[in-house]
Amino acid sequence: MKNDSVSLDLPHDSRKIPCPAVVPLSSILPEEPLLMMGAGPVPIPDAVAKANGVVINHLGSTMATVIGQVKSMARYVFQTQSKWVMGVAGPGSAAMEMAVTNLAWQGTRVLCVCNGFFSERMAEMARRVGANVELLKIESGRAANADEVAAAIARFRPEIVTIVQGETSNTVWNRNLAPIAALAREAGALVVVDAVCTLSTMPLPMDEWGIDAVITGGQKGLSSIPGVSLLAFSDAAWQRIKSRPAPPVHWCLDASLAENFWHNASYHYTAPVSGVLALHEALRLVCAETLERRFARHLKCSNALQAGIEAMSLKLYVARESRLNSVVGIELPNGLSGADVCAHISRHHHVEIAGSFGAPIVRIGQMGEQCREHHLFRTVHALGRTMLCLGVAVDLPAGVAALERSLAAA
Ligand SMILES: *Cc1c(COP(=O)(O)O)cnc(C)c1O
Repeated sequence: MKNDSVSLDLPHDSRKIPCPAVVPLSSILPEEPLLMMGAGPVPIPDAVAKANGVVINHLGSTMATVIGQVKSMARYVFQTQSKWVMGVAGPGSAAMEMAVTNLAWQGTRVLCVCNGFFSERMAEMARRVGANVELLKIESGRAANADEVAAAIARFRPEIVTIVQGETSNTVWNRNLAPIAALAREAGALVVVDAVCTLSTMPLPMDEWGIDAVITGGQKGLSSIPGVSLLAFSDAAWQRIKSRPAPPVHWCLDASLAENFWHNASYHYTAPVSGVLALHEALRLVCAETLERRFARHLKCSNALQAGIEAMSLKLYVARESRLNSVVGIELPNGLSGADVCAHISRHHHVEIAGSFGAPIVRIGQMGEQCREHHLFRTVHALGRTMLCLGVAVDLPAGVAALERSLAAA
């Protein structure tokens, strides 16, 4: 046998993996940061960016104080008195999977109100743990109404109803969420709401509306970083979790284990400390602004953006009554592709907007820091100029004027 001393020189040997030639980030990233006006991630405030650069012990008294404040601020943002607020290391989808897979298991009857791509994701997660899933498909571009959900509940008798507040993929707002939650609860079902793009941008009073689980991500309405997400369970939801026939299959997403970290200052897995600190600062800024003023800012900015886009003579994808404010969908004229529009506006104006998953639209976000007047002027100008360059005869000055008029009148 060969001795096991390690040779320090690395002779050329085809079995060795060569060190790759790479460049530093500074030569990959643009000199001037792009303005992130897509469907998330969104720009983050300075305080959030600074907090995200700090590493502390994931356990111990400093972290315990931080977590205590995160929970109490989150209760304000969710508008709940429930104790069962927690975070998760992962995207909004991880919070979604934590809610769905802790509440549902083999044979659980789950009714998914399906407005598009993200509502369908909750159905898929429930199916994967063996739940008996029924889809109530709503045609694209319109909100679910209470009557059709009531009929589906009467037919299917679900134990859980899932629904999205804002369907980011096609920019539909489920404006009837409150009556839908009420009738689901009356029928004895727990209600799970995806509020990833809407939390802190519009009212979602969890307790008042009788919602049992609310899910959110960091990188949208809250203007934090992606990768640390929040969710809240009602007492009824928590009881169901505690009386499961068996633990959930996803160890990292097990809410009972997460209770160790989020409620008992002990270990589950190493928390994403920097991201938790960033989320703390994002929540603190929501509290400093207050929900009322934050909702008003979002409404004012989104309405002004929509007015500017329409005055330019571009068309909004969803009719007024079901239109989501947090993400605005714009129809693509003249057979343009979303990819062409997004590439042009990014390259020539350093503004990022989003394409879509299927619908013939591009999307501009109005979440958190995206809702600032100076960002709106830059975005409307960049969009109008991009359309002109791509051969679409928009009236850019009319768009900018309408934006200004709307902001001044609000
Ligand atoms: C963005 C989004 C998600 C998914 O969030 P990720 O952080 O990408 O996992 C889910 N639901 C809605 C409504 C969203 O907008």
